[in-house]
Amino acid sequence: MGMKFCSLSSGSSGNCQYIETDKVRILIDAGFSGRKVEDLLSSIGVCPSTIDCIFVTHEHMDHIKGVGVLSRRYDIPIFANEGTWINMSSKIGEIDNKNIKIIHTDKDFEIADLGVHPFKIFHDACDPVGYIFFYKNIKITIMTDTGWVNNEMKNIIKGSSLYLLESNHDVNMLKYGKYPWYLKKRILSTKGHLSNDDAGRVLSQVLLGNGEIILLAHLSQENNIPYLAHETVGSFVKDCGINIHKDITLDLTYRDRATKVYSL
Ligand SMILES: [Zn+2]
Ligand SMILES: [Zn+2]
Repeated sequence: MGMKFCSLSSGSSGNCQYIETDKVRILIDAGFSGRKVEDLLSSIGVCPSTIDCIFVTHEHMDHIKGVGVLSRRYDIPIFANEGTWINMSSKIGEIDNKNIKIIHTDKDFEIADLGVHPFKIFHDACDPVGYIFFYKNIKITIMTDTGWVNNEMKNIIKGSSLYLLESNHDVNMLKYGKYPWYLKKRILSTKGHLSNDDAGRVLSQVLLGNGEIILLAHLSQENNIPYLAHETVGSFVKDCGINIHKDITLDLTYRDRATKVYSL
């Protein structure tokens, strides 16, 4: 068997991604109530008690809300770097010592047959990370909640079979929308979130057009429209000679339901 991926949901109200290999089943973030994560998992036929571990990207509530509950309910280890642990501990409740797993940004490790590479991203959290997961010759990138993607990050993520990439807002919808100025400034900053244009630019620099799957994630409900995100990103990708219907799969994630389960 290869690798399976499903975005259980993504957006400012909560983020939770699922990966499965022959030997492990993991979540990346669990930003909903424990009950909601259980429902999302059962919507794809996965029993929560079979989850082996949860990886946390950063301590914002839309990524950690259900982490503590799930860890206590199903005895699941939680992996996060030290900065994230320090900042999320008070928000997720007491965690059994054996389930506190400290990882280091930029240091590779393995969970059974799954390789993991946490890498630094730019966001207004203590020590936020994106993740690359390796299994056999398959590589998956999880990168949301970053206001900036530098060349080093592009090199790290290049060659992935699947990209879960933030496409948070349309710059004009945000600029002229009703968010207060301080919030607009935060989102637009290099420690905020990637716009549709940003996502398109990143993809046009990393995609090879060899069948990659791209899932646009963390779409703002207020400052984006799924159709617009897809169109905008698609036009950047087309401009570099990639046919978005034949060469790649360009799909969206949803705020309140799971995508299909992708087999890689
Ligand atoms: Zn965040
Ligand atoms: Zn977020």
